[in-house]
Formats: sequence, structure tokens, C-alpha cells
Amino acid sequence: MIQEFQLRLLPQQAADEATVSQYLIKEKGIDARTLNSVRVLKRSIDARQRTIFVNVKLRAYINEFPQDEAYQVTHYPDVSDKPQVIVVGAGPGGLFAALRLIELGYRPIVLERGKNVHERKKDLARISKEQCVDSESNYCFGEGGAGAYSDGKLYTRSKKRGNVEKILNVFCQHGASTNILADAHPHIGTDKLPRVIENMRNTIIRCGGEVHFQTKMTRLLVEGRGSRVEGGDSRVVGVEAVSSPNDQTTNPLVFQYLGPVILATGHSARDVYRYLAKEKIEMEAKGIAVGVRLEHPAMLIDQIQYHRREGRGKYLPAAEYSFVTQVDGRGVYSFCMCPGGFVIPAATGPEQIVVNGMSPSNRGTQWSNSGMVVEVRPEDVAEFAGNSKFSGSLSMMHFQEELERMTWQQGNMKQTAPAQRMADFVNNRLSYDLPKSSYAPGLLSSPLHFWLPPMIGKRLQEGFKTFGRYAHGFLTNEAVLIAMETRTSAPVRILRDNDTLQHITVSGLFPCGEGAGYAGGIVSAGVDGERCAEACAVYLEGLS
Ligand SMILES: Cc1cc2nc3c(=O)[nH]c(=O)nc-3n(C[C@H](O)[C@H](O)[C@H](O)COP(=O)(O)OP(=O)(O)OC[C@H]3O[C@@H](n4cnc5c(N)ncnc54)[C@H](O)[C@@H]3O)c2cc1C
Repeated sequence: MIQEFQLRLLPQQAADEATVSQYLIKEKGIDARTLNSVRVLKRSIDARQRTIFVNVKLRAYINEFPQDEAYQVTHYPDVSDKPQVIVVGAGPGGLFAALRLIELGYRPIVLERGKNVHERKKDLARISKEQCVDSESNYCFGEGGAGAYSDGKLYTRSKKRGNVEKILNVFCQHGASTNILADAHPHIGTDKLPRVIENMRNTIIRCGGEVHFQTKMTRLLVEGRGSRVEGGDSRVVGVEAVSSPNDQTTNPLVFQYLGPVILATGHSARDVYRYLAKEKIEMEAKGIAVGVRLEHPAMLIDQIQYHRREGRGKYLPAAEYSFVTQVDGRGVYSFCMCPGGFVIPAATGPEQIVVNGMSPSNRGTQWSNSGMVVEVRPEDVAEFAGNSKFSGSLSMMHFQEELERMTWQQGNMKQTAPAQRMADFVNNRLSYDLPKSSYAPGLLSSPLHFWLPPMIGKRLQEGFKTFGRYAHGFLTNEAVLIAMETRTSAPVRILRDNDTLQHITVSGLFPCGEGAGYAGGIVSAGVDGERCAEACAVYLEGLS
């Protein structure tokens, strides 16, 4: 017999399947000899009251065993002799597009400018150790994209549950813990993600697809003339790419790959945006959010969120928070919270400081951080620094670049990030010292209240006062602001048709994922990758 239960347990009772089984035996009178297995279906923490509960929905297998995998298995056929599709970018958007193409019977050729997920790790270490950012291999570029060495939080605001479940199940099939199917706030962890991504690559290759690293798309191959909407027949038939683009000593080899193109190059491929703008492939400036990383001692956040002096204790995870308010007509909010995590240097080129956050699967570091950002719209930057380049489709990208350069200058022209204690920032005081931080390249005390553009700095100050009222103890000098968080989303939207998902004027080109402006995280990029693959299959059927 299979019986389902909805339980409200204390954290120690919900610790694992063994403790949950004990609870069923003791409290629900199930005979221990007949209870063969339990499977947790949903799990969420209710920390609103002093006593914290874990809500658990589970399935108990009594006198029988589970017959199926704990996740839904997707079948990937051999596509070696099928028509090919070019997928540019091996981030979540590109990888999920490639896997979905295989499911649909097409052969993906994945081009990735960066290195494979393991080689990439060495370049990440060099950023902290040698203050040196490789512009082709960093926290945003390389196998797995920005998702590989990310936090791996897998929750999304997407309402399309079916699509989200599919993405989570594919992750499980490639080695992620099935806990992600049960947890209200699923999280893989930066230590586990590379292996999962490598397994996804192996599926693509085993089925007859190709994955080329250190291969950078430099040009779209376009045939025909005139805009698709005006009856023209401009269509993308492939790409030109160069190999080993980060090797300055040799002339790069140039290749052509033919087929329709799913363009999933992420929000940091500024050369791609520049190229598209030059080729007059329609895009528009998109609102972004910029600000700082805020880092607290994890213990403090645990104490505040769990309302207990002892913090999370043995059975609860590092606590999360989420804050949002409005200041002067713009949103100010916490973003991508990483409990028990690190702040990391996420620049992709010279003369930039960009910070972001991530956490390992156990969320076990002594810090908890989140982005604290202010909404910025294209009309807000028009007058920024009195500079005329803040207009047109690349205006928000130029704004990001300007902020990143400014931060780099304030940070001693290295990856050492300008930083200020939180209460000092709110009270316009310089910090004479800084707390210990997880940010490996190091911090430099700096008056952020003075040099952050007022449209960001002043709003953050007001936002922090509000958040301090929401959560007593949150606004404290034990926390540090680290500048700057600028890559929360794409600064550009590459315009595509809502139905065919092809670019509005050029057929055969499928702008995809976060970089195209249609996703904002790992899961939504994966969902968009699948949608683009499906749209591409429809396009190819139409051609045949
Ligand atoms: C540190 C960090 C932590 C994050 N934490 C989370 C999190 O916890 N949860 C979450 O949902 N999201 C998180 N994100 C955001 C998430 O990673 C992105 O939303 C997601 O990766 C976007 O997927 P994508 O495939 O659209 O683009 P990307 O992941 O950016 O992938 C684009 C890929 O295209 C490649 N590329 C670019 N130009 C070219 C070219 N010309 N030729 C060939 N290849 C090219 C790049 O090298 C890159 O690999 C985090 C991001 C970072 C940086």
C-alpha cells in the first residue's frame, strides 16, 4: 500500500527519511516491519512563529517498494544523422536547448567561447590569487555559463509549473539530488553543479551532438535580403566562429557551422550585443537593477530569521531573507540571496569590478550575502554623467560598463572591491576598518555613500532603513556592502516574435535565455532554451 501524509514536524523530526520514518511509526502507528520506504514529495520551513515547523508532504511505501525512479526520465535518442542546429553558448539556456533538440530528433552543435567546466576552475582561482580576469574564461564564460559556478538556486517566479518541473527532473537525471524536487527553495550548490553540467554535455555527445569549447561565434551567416516582416527573406543559415580566441600568440582558426541558430550567449557577451547593433539586428534597451552585495555573518541572519539566540542549530538550513520596498518610484530589493555562501568576483574583462554571490550545497560558510539592488530604467540613465552614449539600444550596457569601470578605479584598479560597513553607509560615515569577508580578492574601505550615483546610493540608504525596521538587527555595522552588483539581468532585449521565437526581422535566428532578455535565472533560462528548441523544430519542419 502507498499512503500519502501531510505532516507538520519539528526540524529534528524532519531531518532525514530515517527520522521521518520514526515519526510515522511512533505517531501514526505504522508497523516498523511493513514500512519499506518513504519519499518526501514537498518540504518547506515555516519560521513565522517562535516554534519553527517543517511542513512535509510524503509518500510511505507500506509492504511494497517504489517501482519508479524518484524523477521523471527523459529519453534521448541517437541523432547522429539528423539535421543540425547551431546552439551558441553552453549556459543553462544553450544546454537545455541542445538536450530538447535531441529529444525532438535534431542534432545540436554547441559552440562555447570558454573552457570546459573543470579547466575553467583554474581561471577562476587566478582572479582571486593574481587579480587577473581572463576575458574568455571567468565566472560568466565557459561550460555551464553563468550557471556553472553560480549558487544553483532553482526557484523561479515562472508560473508554468510543468516546464519548471521538467528542468528540475532533467537536472536530477544528470546527477542533481532529488531533494530539488521536494524543497520549496531548491538549491544544487556550486560544488555540485559542475558534475551535473558535465553529465549534460556527455548526454549531448553520446547522442551524436557536438560540443566545441574555446570556440567563439564572431559572425552570423545571413542569406537573402530585407526584413521578414516586410516580406523580405533575410535568414540566418549559420555562424562563423574562431577557435582559441584567448590565445593571443597564434592566429585563430576560423570555422563555419551551418544551420539555424539558437543564440544563448548570456548577459555578459557585450561583443555579441555590439556586433548585433552594428549589423542592425533589432534590439532595445532593457531596465536592469544595480547596487551592491551585502554580506552579514550567517549567524546573525539565522538569529534574526529564526528568532533564536542559538541561530539555526543542528537541523535547520542557513536562513534566507527577501526584502523589497519602493524609494522615489523605483524598486529597491534583495536579489539572489546566498545563505552560508561567498561573494565572488564576476568581472568578464579588464577595468571592471563586478560582484555576485554563490553558496556550496551545505550552505556552511560563516557568511550570508545577497545583492541589494535598485531598479534602473532606460530613461533614468539618459543624463548619466552628461554623456550622450546613454541612449539607444546599448544605453544600459554602457551604463553598466561605466559603473564597473568606476568601481574598478575606486578599488585600486585591481579586483580588490570598494566596501563600506552598512550602518556607516546609511549614516554617510567612512568605515575605518572592515569586517572579515568571504570576498577572496580583498576589500578596500571606500565611501560608497559619496561616489555611488545618487539614484542608486540614496535609494539604497533609504531601502536599508526600511529593511532595518522589517528585521531588527539587520541594519548593522557587522554587515558590509561590497561594490558593485551590475549584472543582475541583461541590459538589452533582442527582439523576437512571440509565436515563432525567431528574431523579428531575420528568420532562422532564435534569441534565447537571459542574454536575449527572456530569462532571469538558471531555471527560466532552461525553460526558454527548451522553448527555442521547440520553435526551431517547427521552423525546420516548415523548410522540409
Ligand atoms: C555567481 C553567480 C551566481 C548565480 N546564482 C544563481 C542562482 O543561484 N540561481 C539562478 O537561477 N541564477 C543564478 N545566477 C544567474 C544564472 O546563472 C543565469 O541567469 C543563467 O546562467 C543564464 O543562462 P543563459 O544560458 O541564458 O546564459 P549564460 O549562463 O550567461 O551562458 C551564456 C554562455 O554563452 C557563452 N558565450 C557568450 N558569447 C559567446 C560567443 N560569441 N560564442 C560562443 N559562446 C558564447 C558564454 O561563455 C556562456 O557560457 C547566477 C549568476 C552568477 C554569475
